[in-house]
Amino acid sequence: MESHSSVSVIIPAAGVGSRMGKSLPKQYLKIGSKTVIEHTLDTFLTHPNVARIVVCLSEKDTIFKSMSISSHNKIHQTPGGQERANSVLKGLVYLQSILSEQEQNQHMVFVHDAARPGLTRKNFDALIERASIEQGAILAMPVVDTIKLAKTKRDKATYIEKTVDRQYLWQAQTPQGFSLNLLKSALEQALAEHATITDEASAIEYVRGNVALVEGESCNFKITRPEDLALAEFYLLQQERL
Ligand code: C5P
Repeated sequence: MESHSSVSVIIPAAGVGSRMGKSLPKQYLKIGSKTVIEHTLDTFLTHPNVARIVVCLSEKDTIFKSMSISSHNKIHQTPGGQERANSVLKGLVYLQSILSEQEQNQHMVFVHDAARPGLTRKNFDALIERASIEQGAILAMPVVDTIKLAKTKRDKATYIEKTVDRQYLWQAQTPQGFSLNLLKSALEQALAEHATITDEASAIEYVRGNVALVEGESCNFKITRPEDLALAEFYLLQQERL
C-alpha cells in the first residue's frame, strides 16, 4: 500500500450512544487496558498512508483531551455538529482549511465510526484500493438472514408484511471513502435539502454518485449494546491487539 498517496480519516465521535445505557459515551468504555476509541485509532495511526485523523468531538467532551493519544501529531480535533452528518461536514471543512487547493482536489477521505475498533489493516487496504478507482467505496456485509418487512396493526402489535429478497441487500459498515470535494458538496446539498443521511454513502447516493461495495468482516461491527464489549474483546485478542 506504500505506493498510494496519503489519505485522511475522519472519526465522528460527538454522539452520546444512549443505547449502551451508560453515562459515559461508548467510545470511552474500556476493552482491556485501552478505551474503544484508542483501539479504533490504532489501526489508522499505524497505517503508512494515513497522514492525519480528524476526531469530531462534542463541545462538552472533556475526556478525549485528557487522553495521551490526543496529543499524537497525526491527531487533529474539531467540534462535532447536531447530527452525525453535521459532524462529518465540520471535519471536512477543517481538512479544507489545512490542505492547499491542489491537495484538496485529489484528496481521499475515509470516515469511520469511533465505536468500530475491530477494523483490520487488510480490509482497510482493500477499501483504499477500490475507493481510489471509484467515485467512492464502503465496507459492507452481504445480508445472510431472511429479512422480513414489518407492519404494525391498530393494536400496535407487529406482524410480517412480507419477506424481502436478500439477494441485493448489504449491511453498511465504515470506513466509507470518497474524494474530499465530492463528499463535502454531496453532504452540503443533502443537508440543505433535508434528505435523510445516516451514513456518508447516503449523501453520495442522494447526488446520484456511484459507490462501490467492498466486502467487510464481522470483526468490524459497531459497538452498540453493553454485551458488544465482550465480543470486541474476543476479536481484538484474535487479532493479537490486546
Ligand atoms: O449513534 P451511532 O452509533 O449511529 O453514531 C455513529 C457515530 O457518529 C458515532 O461515532 C457517534 O459518536 C457519531 N456522531 C457524531 N455527531 C453526532 C452524532 C453521532 O459524531 N451529532
